[in-house]
Amino acid sequence: MRLPPLVSRTVALVFVVLTGAVPGRAQEAAAVTGARTLLAVFAHPDDETMAGPLLAHYARGPNTRVHLAIVTNGNKGVTPFAKIPAGEALAAARAKEAECACTALGAEPPVLLGFPDGGLASMQVLAQATAQVRATIDRLRPDAIVTWGPDGGYGHPDHRLVSAIVTQIVQAGEATSHLFYVGLPKSRMDSDAIKALHFPAPFAPVLDKWLNVRIAYTPDDAARAKQSLECHKSQFTPETMAVITMLTDRVHQGRLHLRSWDGGPERNDVFTR
Ligand SMILES: [Zn+2]
Repeated sequence: MRLPPLVSRTVALVFVVLTGAVPGRAQEAAAVTGARTLLAVFAHPDDETMAGPLLAHYARGPNTRVHLAIVTNGNKGVTPFAKIPAGEALAAARAKEAECACTALGAEPPVLLGFPDGGLASMQVLAQATAQVRATIDRLRPDAIVTWGPDGGYGHPDHRLVSAIVTQIVQAGEATSHLFYVGLPKSRMDSDAIKALHFPAPFAPVLDKWLNVRIAYTPDDAARAKQSLECHKSQFTPETMAVITMLTDRVHQGRLHLRSWDGGPERNDVFTR
């Protein structure tokens, strides 16, 4: 199942060895191999759950690399069942969980930017985080980017700010214009099961008609997404994981909902217009 991406990576590696190309010239290697790169930028380890089936879908695609950049270290995500105190121990545990999730999705190892959880909202930190996200984009040269929408899923300030950072970089012309926001379709967000999740704030759904990008995924992609969710043991009980998986199935029904940041036509692939 994962053979094509491995072959692609091997070809790219051979290219680098033969030409002496340095990592900063990854784009040249990509041009030779026809490789495509999708970058997901999220705020916390576990946010990628919002796009799990999508990331699994593209990670198994031929000549496609999927990267996940996580802006904060998640060191304040304390839960009563994990019993890991806030701080370095929790950040370390969540870094391992992010690695586990990327492996399950078939993605590259995560890019951990390590900013303080819940601490993006200052001029100084935002400037530093923007520089780090920009540097990550410069290094990976993604052909498409996925991040939070302005709603942040349920309004989390870190989510909203990461969305704003990525959008700022794209609208300045410093990255691909293929930027997509994950979104929860409003018509499928009123079930009792969703209310029973007890998120810190109500979900912020998007009117269906704005979610003009729908990416089909297979049951195997959904299974990989479930497996990656199960990595986040410090954040979710098995019962909550089961509810999230059930809701993902119910909300997306085999086609993950996104919207292009600049509108545009309906489409079913993040790489093509
Ligand atoms: Zn989050």
